[in-house]
This record gives sequence, structure tokens and C-alpha cells, in this order.
Amino acid sequence: MIKQFNCPECGEHRLEEVMDNVTVSSVIETIGVESNGVADLVYGEQTNEDGDIQCYQCVGCGFVLKDRDDREIDTPEELNDWILCHQPE
Ligand SMILES: [Zn+2]
Repeated sequence: MIKQFNCPECGEHRLEEVMDNVTVSSVIETIGVESNGVADLVYGEQTNEDGDIQCYQCVGCGFVLKDRDDREIDTPEELNDWILCHQPE
């Protein structure tokens, strides 16, 4: 069953997962060496490792999903429950 997020505040459909403690690795495509001593790096592919989910929030307005006890939702299981409770169809 595929469900779509509908923001209760602004109607936005895009939801984002915000993570803490993530290790990000970026491929460096080119290194521009500047006379001021600061290298001008052009980045390619990025990979993320580890990390803890901090919250799920609306891309449009930043509305943070919370459970019945007003705790921020920070697991996919809780997100599943939230969607089932708030998006009836
Ligand atoms: Zn929103």
C-alpha cells in the first residue's frame, strides 16, 4: 500500500528525513588551485553513512511530525503509524 504525505499545515506532499551524526563522503571532481590559497573544489557523487534519524518534516513549511505524546517521530515504524492515523484514504 503506497500512501502519500499530506502536510496538515500547508498541503505539501514532500516529506524529508532529517538525520544527525551522518558521515558524508564527497568525490572531488576537480581541484582549482587559487592564488589566495583556497582550493576551489568541484564535487561529484556524495555518499552518506551511519546517522540517526532526528525527525521527519514537511519540505514546504518545516512542520515536524509528532506522535500522540507530542514526541517527535524518529523511526520508520512511528512514521508508518503517523501516516495511517493522519492520511485516512
Ligand atoms: Zn507543510
